[in-house]
Amino acid sequence: MSEHETNDARPTTDAEWRRVLSDEEYRVLRESGTEPAGTSDLLHVDADGVFACAGCGTELFHTDQKYTSGTGWPSFWDPVADETVETGRETGLLGSRIEVRCGECDGHLGHVFDDGPDPTGKRYCINGVALEFTATD
Ligand SMILES: [Zn+2]
Repeated sequence: MSEHETNDARPTTDAEWRRVLSDEEYRVLRESGTEPAGTSDLLHVDADGVFACAGCGTELFHTDQKYTSGTGWPSFWDPVADETVETGRETGLLGSRIEVRCGECDGHLGHVFDDGPDPTGKRYCINGVALEFTATD
């Protein structure tokens, strides 16, 4: 599928999202759910490649921005570009966290914390189900 066709086919309504996403993808991306820790196949990926949004295919992170945080969720210290993700404060029962959403389709990806490694000191804690990995040669 070409980039152009992907854009044309992008869901805009809740019913369309339900049709194109798996139940677990829908729960995370559209209902701000969280996958169980340690369950993502992407945790141990270290091959060069790109992690794209599972909702819209936008490239969000590169393998060289990934690190092992030990939290049980794929973790990155920086996105591909600042505008590829949007962040905003989320207030809930557990206090206040900074939510990370896809800058293109507004899907919920995870949260960002200030305990990451150099050079940014950021930890983008991302649900693996919200990402699709493609290896590069
Ligand atoms: Zn997206």
